Parts: sequence; structure tokens; C-alpha cells
Amino acid sequence: MNTEIWKASSSRLVDAHCHLYEFPSEEVEKYQEYRILAVSDNFESSLKTLKLAERFDNVIPCIGLHPWEVRENCLEEVEQILKLAPKALCLGEIGLDKLFTPQTFKLQLKVFSEFLKFSKEYELPVNVHAAGAWREVYDLIRRYDIEKAVFHWYSGPLDLLEEIVGSGYFITINPTVTINKKHMRALQAVELENVLTESDGPYKYRGFYLKPELVKEVVKTIAKVKEVEVENVVAQVYRNLERFLF
Ligand SMILES: [Zn+2]
Repeated sequence: MNTEIWKASSSRLVDAHCHLYEFPSEEVEKYQEYRILAVSDNFESSLKTLKLAERFDNVIPCIGLHPWEVRENCLEEVEQILKLAPKALCLGEIGLDKLFTPQTFKLQLKVFSEFLKFSKEYELPVNVHAAGAWREVYDLIRRYDIEKAVFHWYSGPLDLLEEIVGSGYFITINPTVTINKKHMRALQAVELENVLTESDGPYKYRGFYLKPELVKEVVKTIAKVKEVEVENVVAQVYRNLERFLF
């Protein structure tokens, strides 16, 4: 991993899963109080994310191919994306989805395996999507002996969460935790040491317009659930981000 990509920044709030390239640049400029792990969905957006990281110190670039973007003959695109890796600090958004795109699952397995092989070889952490495939994603990550992983918007089973934490991996908590019961149960069960905060913005979901600002609400909810001060949550999540990356 090329750690020189990590730039000093005074931003302390963490958005560990954001499709930042989709926001207009005036808005990106306003988000400098957040340390943003900016994920990409395909080759083109990976390029955009890398450009944002050059421009803004608070942006940490991730490159990848989202499972929803997986289609026939996309392995060439994967290869193109991986050529950009020397400029990235993380691979994402990558993973498997059996809930929304089960029709490409076989191909997703192939693509995800390619990314994991690469992650292992170049020690790049992974930012994963695992809707409807929590167990499959975890098992593959273990099989490839990946050291650093974050399971974004975790709403999988609690016994698996125990294994995730036991392996030293992280989950992100999303603003929708206040209305999503499975996600809330995960927050109640997980140790603060394994938590990162996220927006997954820009995305509309059940009355929420997800964007980095909402991380402030997430931090407050975590503080309430864990019965600790908001400041402690902010500091611990920031330390977790550093542990995830380095
Ligand atoms: Zn996402």
C-alpha cells in the first residue's frame, strides 16, 4: 500500500462509505470536516474518486466495481481498475449481492475473488457490500486471508457479527439505524472498537436523503446506545479508521 496517499487533515468525523464522486463539487467542498472513505462503483467513477482525493485532503480514495455493476465481460474492467491501485488506499465498493442482483451472483463471485486476491497481495483493505450474502462475503474474505475489512451497513445475523468482530473486522453504522431494526440490533451487539460511521450518500432511502452531514446524527445515536459521550464516540471511530487503514 502506498501510505503517502494518506494526507494530514484536521477532519475528525468519519464517513467510511460514501459515493462522493456523485455529489456536485460545490457540495464536496462543504464536506471537509469529514474524513471520507470515498468508494467507487466502476472504472470511470474510480478515476473521479482519485481526482477528488488529489484535490481534497480529507478524501481517502477507494477503487472498485460494485456488485450491481457486474456483467458479462467485466473482468477486463476489473483489470483496468486494479491498474489504478497504486493511487488508492482501499478497494471498494466490492462484494456480493444476492438480494437485489441474484441473477449475476456467479459472476459476482468471480469478480469479488479477483479483488480479494489483489487485496491480499498488495495489502489493501476492503470496503464491502454484502446484501443478502453476509455469510458468503465473510467466508470468502477469510478464505483469502484478508487482514482488513469493513462490512458496510451491516444488517446480517448476530452470530456472524461475532465472527466478524473476532476476525478484527469492522462494520459501518448508517443514518437509517434509527428505523432499521436489524441494523440497530447489530449496533447494540457490536463493540465500539469495531464500529465506523457512514452515510452511503448520495442515496434516498425510506425518507432519508443520505449524505455526510448525517454522520453527526449517527454519532449521537451510537453515543446513546452505548451510553458514552459523543466526544468518545468521535475519537474511537477515528482511531478505528486508522486501524482499518494501517
Ligand atoms: Zn454504497
